[in-house]
Amino acid sequence: MAAGAGAVAVSGGARAARAQVQTKAHIVILGAGAAGAALANRLTERLDGAQITIVDGRAEHWYQPGFSLIAAGLKPASYSVSQTTDWLPKGVTLKADWAAEIDPEARKLRLQGGETLTYDYLIVATGLTLDHAAIEGFSLDLVGKDGIGALYAGPQYAARTWQAASAFVEQGGVGIFTRPATEMKCAGAPLKHTFLIDDIARDAGTRGKMDLTYAANNNSLFGVPIVAEKVRMLFGDRGIDAQYAHVLRAIEPGAKRAIFDTPEGRVERDYDYLHVIPPQRAPDVVRQSGLSWADKWVDQGWVEVDKHNLRHRRYSEVFALGDVAGVPKGKTAASVKWQVPVVEDHLVAQIAGDTAETSYHGYTSCPLITRVGRAMLIEFDYNDNLVPSFPGVIAPLEELWISWLMKEVALKATYNAMLRGKA
Ligand SMILES: Cc1cc2nc3c(=O)[nH]c(=O)nc-3n(C[C@H](O)[C@H](O)[C@H](O)COP(=O)(O)OP(=O)(O)OC[C@H]3O[C@@H](n4cnc5c(N)ncnc54)[C@H](O)[C@@H]3O)c2cc1C
Repeated sequence: MAAGAGAVAVSGGARAARAQVQTKAHIVILGAGAAGAALANRLTERLDGAQITIVDGRAEHWYQPGFSLIAAGLKPASYSVSQTTDWLPKGVTLKADWAAEIDPEARKLRLQGGETLTYDYLIVATGLTLDHAAIEGFSLDLVGKDGIGALYAGPQYAARTWQAASAFVEQGGVGIFTRPATEMKCAGAPLKHTFLIDDIARDAGTRGKMDLTYAANNNSLFGVPIVAEKVRMLFGDRGIDAQYAHVLRAIEPGAKRAIFDTPEGRVERDYDYLHVIPPQRAPDVVRQSGLSWADKWVDQGWVEVDKHNLRHRRYSEVFALGDVAGVPKGKTAASVKWQVPVVEDHLVAQIAGDTAETSYHGYTSCPLITRVGRAMLIEFDYNDNLVPSFPGVIAPLEELWISWLMKEVALKATYNAMLRGKA
């Protein structure tokens, strides 16, 4: 079975025990999020004697798929928050600090607090940064009031987004939902927010006094053509207007005006509710390290890795996975689930002086919520093939209650199992 976000919930049993590889290697993992924590747990099982250091300056672990539910008033902010230390295995050293400089030639890095670490192997799992400063006039202080939402920014901002969105649901007016022109994590999330606010307004009896517009960054509503077409049809059914090639450039919060770059030049639109998702890039420390692609995504700085084994193309002792990896798909937690065993196998084989065959094929999954209680379980690969986990049981392009349950109930348990290295 091609198991995905959903399938893990039913197939996440014990893995076959394998002989541990003995080593004294020092492995440094940057980031203790979905990818870093999951990999740390698996490496401690596979290696005997390795020194594993994980670096992360954030004390809280954020379950980000929950942000969409928080921003629709369906969960409290606390739903997405745990402690970073909750997920780390014994025997791993946590440096509660930020990587500030990476020198891949010298195999060392400097932490913000001044400490220097050397490594034999480096795993870059820093996730991505949200470039809110790229939207002129926008500041996170605005979120939650005067019709501004920004649910990507964290659990508290997702909760404040619901404050602004619920006021809009009551009062009505013009709602505009944006997405950036860069690569982004969970490209379904801007659509989910649009569908959810539409549905909640219908339930509240206020949909009739609203105009809803989804501003797509290019000429499509989703990166996979067959899904884009399905979303286009659903938008038609729900009366949600789609504006193509509209990239949010600036806002005037006092006037409640959004300014978009379009092929025809700058276009101004007044709003009562505006959902902002800013451009997304690799963290500065990664972009300045020389590890990024030089000829792709130059404004974004994703790490230059082989798309099948996730090893750096110029530094064989460096791997990157999760949102920061420079691969054509895969910025979801469900992708991380498939990337972690690949990095694990190739790294362990390398340490043992061997090679591995495990390969990542771009698996990406998005339980695309289309209303409260309904979702489409969209799963695809590098070639835009749909790769359903439950063929014949869960149809990917149908709005199903079971797919909603995958998102609302099963995904968090699956995610937590993945963090522990068990899925
Ligand atoms: C609104 C929203 C909805 C989503 N919905 C879904 C969904 O339905 N399904 C799904 O599969 N995925 C979803 N995702 C995507 C998913 O959450 C991410 O793809 C996943 O968390 C990526 O894991 P990661 O480890 O690469 O990054 P993260 O989990 O973000 O972890 C990165 C870690 O690196 C740390 N870090 C950053 N900079 C440094 C530094 N300089 N030094 C040290 N540490 C650093 C951070 O503090 C963080 O802890 C969603 C995301 C969002 C925002």
